[in-house]
Amino acid sequence: MRGLPDSVGIKGLGGPELEGLMSDLGQPGYRVSQLRGWLYGHGVDSYDEMTNMPTTLRERLELVAPLYTPTLVTSQTSAVDGTRKYLWRLADGSSVESVGLPSGDRLTVCFSTQAGCAMGCSFCATGHGGLVRDLGPGEMVDQVRLTAQDFGRRATNAVAMGQGEPFANYEHTLAALRFMNDKDGLNIGARHLTVSTCGLVEGIRRFAEEPEQFTLAISLHSAIQATRDRIMPGVRGQRLESLHTAIADYGQATGRRPSIEFALIEGVNDSDDELRALVEFCRGLHVHVNLIPVNPVEVARVSRSDVGRLVEFKRALVSTGTEVTVRQERGVDIDAACGQLRQRHE
Ligand code: SF4
Repeated sequence: MRGLPDSVGIKGLGGPELEGLMSDLGQPGYRVSQLRGWLYGHGVDSYDEMTNMPTTLRERLELVAPLYTPTLVTSQTSAVDGTRKYLWRLADGSSVESVGLPSGDRLTVCFSTQAGCAMGCSFCATGHGGLVRDLGPGEMVDQVRLTAQDFGRRATNAVAMGQGEPFANYEHTLAALRFMNDKDGLNIGARHLTVSTCGLVEGIRRFAEEPEQFTLAISLHSAIQATRDRIMPGVRGQRLESLHTAIADYGQATGRRPSIEFALIEGVNDSDDELRALVEFCRGLHVHVNLIPVNPVEVARVSRSDVGRLVEFKRALVSTGTEVTVRQERGVDIDAACGQLRQRHE
C-alpha cells in the first residue's frame, strides 16, 4: 500500500498482496479467489456479506484490512446522450470523479487513478488543483463497478482517463486493470481496458512489457516542444523525440496500435505550424489520432477551435495515411470535463 492512507484498507491491495495477506492468515489458495469475487464480482459493502467465509476470518480481515466502499456525493445525467458523471467520497475524505458513457450495447466507464493530479495541464480543471494522493487498486475498480451498477448493466469498457496520470501511479493502476479483467472481478476483456497517459516514456516502455493486451492512449496535444511544454508542464523535461521513439517501440513490441489524443484549443495548438508538426509526428507511426474539441473549462480559460479547423486537421492527417477520428462530444450539458464536478463541490 505504497503512499496510501491506512483507511484505504483492503482496497489498497493488488492481486499478489491479497494472496500474501490470505497466506499470512493461514488461508488456502481458493479463499483468495473467493475474496476477490466478493470484493469486485459481487461488490459487497462489508465482510459480513461474505457468507462462505468463516466468521473468524472475516473478523480478522476487518481488523487488519478494513473494507470501505466509496459514497456518492453527487451525480449529473446528460439529457442529450445519457452520459452520467459521478463524484465519489473515499474513506479518507478525498473525492474522485467517474463518468459512464452508454452507447448501444456498450457502457464505457472513465475512472480516476489519482485524487487530483500533479501534471498541471493548462486546459484541465483537475490540473489546477494539484495532487491530493494516489488511489488504491480497489478504489479504481469501485468507480467502474458502482458506475455500472447505477446504470443497471455491466461495464463493457473502462478507461483510465479521469483525474490523475495513471503511469504516475503505475502499480496500483495495473493491479486495478487486472481486477477489472479478472473473471472473478469485473470480467472486462483486456483489449477493452485502456490507459490514457500524458506520455510518460518510462511508463509506456513498462506497459509494453505487460503480458495482457491492454490498450494505450497518449495525450499529445501538441507536437511542437515549446507549446507542449507550456500546456503540459508535467512532462516539460521530456523531449518529443523520445516520446516518438517510445510510441514506435511500443507498436513494435506489442503489435498493437495506440491512440494519440489531440484536444484542439483555439489560438494555442490549432495553427498551421501545429498541424504540420502533428502530421510529421504521426508520419510512419502506427497510431490512430483522436481529435477532440477541448471542453471549455472556466478555471483554465480555454476555448475550443471551430469545427472547420477540426475538419482541416482531419483532412491533412488522412491525406498522409494516418487514421483519424473526431471524437464525438459527450455530456455537453453537464460538467463533463475532468475535474469540474469535483471543483464545484469543494
Ligand atoms: S489532463 Fe489528465 S494528466 Fe493533465 S492535469 Fe488533467 S488529469 Fe492530470
